[in-house]
Amino acid sequence: MPDPTDQQRDAMVANQIEGRGITNPRILEAMRRVPRHRFMPQRVQHLAYQDRPLPIGHGQTISQPYMVGLMTHLLDPQPDDIVLEIGVGSGYQTAILAELAAEVIGVERITPLAERAARLLADLGYTNTTVLVGDGTMGLPDRSPYDGILVAAAGPHLPRPLLDQLADEGRLVIPVGEGRKQTLIRAVRRGGSLHIERLTSVRFVPLIGKHGAGGDAQI
Ligand code: SAH
Repeated sequence: MPDPTDQQRDAMVANQIEGRGITNPRILEAMRRVPRHRFMPQRVQHLAYQDRPLPIGHGQTISQPYMVGLMTHLLDPQPDDIVLEIGVGSGYQTAILAELAAEVIGVERITPLAERAARLLADLGYTNTTVLVGDGTMGLPDRSPYDGILVAAAGPHLPRPLLDQLADEGRLVIPVGEGRKQTLIRAVRRGGSLHIERLTSVRFVPLIGKHGAGGDAQI
């Protein structure tokens, strides 16, 4: 049976993603495939393919499709990569990453969101995702180093543990800043040094944790 959301997804990818310059065919295909509407509460599902973030409960939001496309493009996940995602929220970005990388480990601090995302990812047949509850600003040293780390919430600075857990040539994509003044940053580890790019102004919910907003860790 044809899925009526297929058309909406094709239009979303054509207009909002490809139309704004993201051309990597693997990313476009992943965004055509993942049923974005399933990742949000029933009452906003009819808005799922619009060009905007949407509420997912607990004061959190699912990112705008373009932001997911842009962050995925900056992370550049490869088929053999192990990716750490901080701020799983709805699990939508997790699913996109799972389409593109070997394994995705997600951390979310709000238990009901983590549980819902884990259940949905399993229902959709993903076998290469793990969702854990905790403070993602600490990273997850046990499984490090990571080829990519994607953070979907904004902290006051680059969390030290995440930089330490990057593999050589590993990429960290994260919004940094507070309130309305946030910048999307990509940090790439090259041997002992970090190559840092400041990309564009963004607006994310706060990254709350020891190395985030309200944290007491020194940079
Ligand atoms: N990519 C998600 C974004 C959700 S919003 C989506 O599109 O659905 C960001 C999420 O980061 C929220 O769910 C919030 O609870 C979570 N978050 C904030 N600080 C965190 C931390 N220190 N560790 C893990 N998750 C955190």
